[in-house]
Amino acid sequence: MAFNKNRREPVPEVETEIWACTSENCSGFMRAAYSFDTEPKCPLCQSDMVKETRILPVLD
Ligand SMILES: [Zn+2]
Repeated sequence: MAFNKNRREPVPEVETEIWACTSENCSGFMRAAYSFDTEPKCPLCQSDMVKETRILPVLD
């Protein structure tokens, strides 16, 4: 499908499983699909992370 500059397609978004940082002061999260750990630590502050779903842009 060719990209048409004249008609901006909205970025498709999908409900995505993520790991979210449990620290209130940190907005760190990562896509669960890209995490190989079963219980990952936040890459920013090393806090525990909890599984959530978020609406995120689809990645190619
Ligand atoms: Zn964090």
